[in-house]
Amino acid sequence: MRRRLAAGNWKMNGTGAALSELDTLTATHPSPTVDILICPPATLIHQAAQAVQGSGVAIGGQDCHAEVSGAHTGDLSAEMLKDAGATSVIVGHSERREDHGEKDDDIRAKARAAMNAGLTAIICVGESLEQREAANTLDIIGGQLSGSIPDLATGENLVVAYEPIWAIGTGKVPTLEEIGEVHDFIRARLDRRFGEGVGRSVRLLYGGSVKPDNAAEIFGVSNVDGALVGGASLKARDFSGIISAL
Ligand code: 13P
Repeated sequence: MRRRLAAGNWKMNGTGAALSELDTLTATHPSPTVDILICPPATLIHQAAQAVQGSGVAIGGQDCHAEVSGAHTGDLSAEMLKDAGATSVIVGHSERREDHGEKDDDIRAKARAAMNAGLTAIICVGESLEQREAANTLDIIGGQLSGSIPDLATGENLVVAYEPIWAIGTGKVPTLEEIGEVHDFIRARLDRRFGEGVGRSVRLLYGGSVKPDNAAEIFGVSNVDGALVGGASLKARDFSGIISAL
C-alpha cells in the first residue's frame, strides 16, 4: 500500500511570520496517518524544520542544483537542503521550466543529485492548454517521464506530480476522467520502465487548483496518491481541509 502524501508548495511566498502556520498545522494533525510535506522558500527551510521537529510534518525544497558544490552563485545543492533539514525537493516544476528554461535533461540531473543526497525527488510533469487541446497530453507526459526520471529511481526516492500547467493557480481542474487517464498512464509507464515492484510503489500526486472542497473527489481517482498544493497550502486551515480529505 502506498502511503498517501499531502505536499504543499509555498512557491515564493512567506517570511518568518509564516512559520506560525506550521505550528497550527502540527497542532491540528498531531499524529497524521498520511505523510505531510511543506516546501517553503529556501530561506525558511532551516527554521521550518525546527518548527516541525517531532511532528508528522516534513520539510522540502522547491529546487536544487545538479552539482554538490561549486561556482554557482545563488544556487543551492541537494546536500545543502538536506543539511538545512529538508527530506524532499521538488524538481521540474512548470514554473522552473518556464522561468528558468529548465529542460528534461536538467531536471533528470537535479533529481539524480537529490536522490544521491538522500532526498526524495518530487518530479513534476504536465501539459500546456495548447498541448491538451491538440490531444498531445499523453505524448508530452510520456516524454517528460522518460526524459526527467533518472535510472536510480525507487519507490522511496521518487514521487511524480502531475500538474497540468493550465490548472495551476487558475481554479480550473481537469475532469476526474482526465486526471485518471494521466495517472493510469504514468503508473503504466513506471511499471514498464522499472518493473511493477518499483513502479507500483512510486507515489503519484495531482497538482493544480486543489482546494478543500474538491480534494476528496480527486483523491478518489485511481492512482492518485495525494496532492501537490500551491495556494491552498499557504494557510494551515485550508491545507488541513485537504489533508483531512486524504
Ligand atoms: P495551485 O494549487 O495554486 O494551483 O498550485 C499548484 C502548484 O503549482 C503546486 O506545485
